Amino acid sequence: MKRLVDKLREKHELAPDEYGALLTMRNPQDVDYLMSQAREEAQRQFGKGIYLRGLVELTNVCRNDCLYCGIRRSNSNIERYTLTREQVMDCCEQGHQIGFRTFVLQGGEWGEERSPWIAEIIAKIRQRWPDCAITLSLGEHPRETYAMWRKAGADRYLLRHETHNERLYSLLHPSGMTARHRLQCLDWLKELGYQVGAGIMVGAPFQSLKTIVEDIQYLIRFSPHMIGIGPFIPQHDTPFRRFPAGTVDMTARLYAILRLALPQALIPSTTAMASLSPDSRLRGILAGANVVMPNLSPTDTRKQYALYDNKAALGAESAQGIQKLADELATIGYHIEWSRGDHPNAKQAE
Ligand code: SAH
Repeated sequence: MKRLVDKLREKHELAPDEYGALLTMRNPQDVDYLMSQAREEAQRQFGKGIYLRGLVELTNVCRNDCLYCGIRRSNSNIERYTLTREQVMDCCEQGHQIGFRTFVLQGGEWGEERSPWIAEIIAKIRQRWPDCAITLSLGEHPRETYAMWRKAGADRYLLRHETHNERLYSLLHPSGMTARHRLQCLDWLKELGYQVGAGIMVGAPFQSLKTIVEDIQYLIRFSPHMIGIGPFIPQHDTPFRRFPAGTVDMTARLYAILRLALPQALIPSTTAMASLSPDSRLRGILAGANVVMPNLSPTDTRKQYALYDNKAALGAESAQGIQKLADELATIGYHIEWSRGDHPNAKQAE
């Protein structure tokens, strides 16, 4: 097993069954070796600094009906909200004062009639804080919309591909949504000069070792600037409420494998990871993750952005708890890195 880890670190790629072996190996010493090599590689690239991204949950209104997601259209048990432009600016202002230099606007997917409104918000943030990175995570849109938002000043876009496997994709999404279109969106975003994030949920219903390996291979081919991976966690008002959550162990192994495959990638230790157990965020970092995304949303809307049950939104997950996060990181010898944290291959904005 150690030989496989060394090979991955050196060649940044393995054969499908070799990934399978790393994902299923049982010997704790082998798992430790994978983690230590990934950690070393992350430290070689980024030192012991962890980048921060301030998450603003713009809206839980969504036209989509993804079977795993708590803000899906068919869920009539949540109160829908959309932040006002002033609220968004206030969230960013608070974040900027704390020291955040990246704002992530995430939300459900709207029809295109609202896209110009989002462009206005982007332009306002860009104007007020020219030194900050603006990241969007607003789902699938036509190329023209992505182009409009890019022109308004957005730098990065997070769009997890969810899975590269068409069949699995269709089991997780309503008819009409396809993996092919999701991947097309990712290609457009890259062409438009965004720093792009792709990724998957670990332990999603019907996922298999085979599909995970396909996803690793896709990520290596696509080589995104950012990789968003977190465990699937059931949400009680979705059709997947009875499926078990993904595991911290498997998620950490994927962080480590992808760190060795794509050494410069920005990999967050995700909120879903932190939601499973108090020490999981640190486990993610010790597996090679180098980003944390605290929540900047207004406290009263946080519970309505219910992607999954027991979502962490307070304490070290929140912007207000930044000292707690710093203290937590210090226990493993890491610290907050306050700079924007662009990918080295990022195109400069026009
Ligand atoms: N609507 C946007 C962004 C919001 S959802 C989009 O589609 O990209 C952001 C991510 O949360 C999704 O990509 C999905 O991977 C994750 N997510 C949604 N439901 C989840 C659940 N039940 N458990 C874990 N992660 C979930």
